Amino acid sequence: MARKKLLFGNWKMNKTIAESREFAKASKELLAFADAKGVDIGVAPVYLSLSAVKEENPKLNVAAENCHFEDHGAFTGEIAIPMLKEIGIDWVIIGHSERRTYFGETDETCNKKLLALEKAGMTPIFCVGETLEEYEAGRTKEVVKRQTLKGLEGLGKQFVNDMVIAYEPVWSIGTGKNASKEIAQDICSFIRELVREQYGDAAENVRILYGGSVKPENVHDYLLQEDVDGALVGGASLKVDSFKALIENI
Ligand code: PEP
Repeated sequence: MARKKLLFGNWKMNKTIAESREFAKASKELLAFADAKGVDIGVAPVYLSLSAVKEENPKLNVAAENCHFEDHGAFTGEIAIPMLKEIGIDWVIIGHSERRTYFGETDETCNKKLLALEKAGMTPIFCVGETLEEYEAGRTKEVVKRQTLKGLEGLGKQFVNDMVIAYEPVWSIGTGKNASKEIAQDICSFIRELVREQYGDAAENVRILYGGSVKPENVHDYLLQEDVDGALVGGASLKVDSFKALIENI
């Protein structure tokens, strides 16, 4: 069975509640357009806007940008998975490089979060990718392998089958410096093989996205690659017109 393409917008720390609500209203048309094209779409707003976006468009896939692995407790400033479930959120981005770089996210905490999401029946978008230094030292595969295997440790086959993994070379995020479509294919296929070694045919269904300066002008090149099942998009996902152009150009 062919894997359905997925375009997911990571809004990072952008958009007020009112601005998110405005996008969500317009997203009804986007969703109809994506359905007609046979593509899944979703967005990841800040925690504060999750309810507003769900309220305006309950059919849109909406992800939190992070979560804690404990259900409750003394973790000031954190948000627990049951709190996200309570407001109808069933997707969470895990291990985005900005969280790894600025907020101390590690392979171990990513793994704990993925295990907690499995228990809760939620879908992760699990991000992996090397820094510029690691890329220049030729260590991409070594780093991606460590992040992927450590992240997936102890997860069940069905969960892995249904999850999303995003390959996001850190040097290409928000920099306008894209990884080539050949690099994207090579690493997405490498990740699929890692999944195959651990989880057999779940590798056929797990969706693997490329992320890093994806724009309406280049989305087509990436999505044509055999092992690239979609894109995780930052900047170009913030405006409705630009999101629409991404879908249009797939
Ligand atoms: C991201 O935030 O995951 C991302 C890929 O950002 P951008 O598209 O802006 O590079």
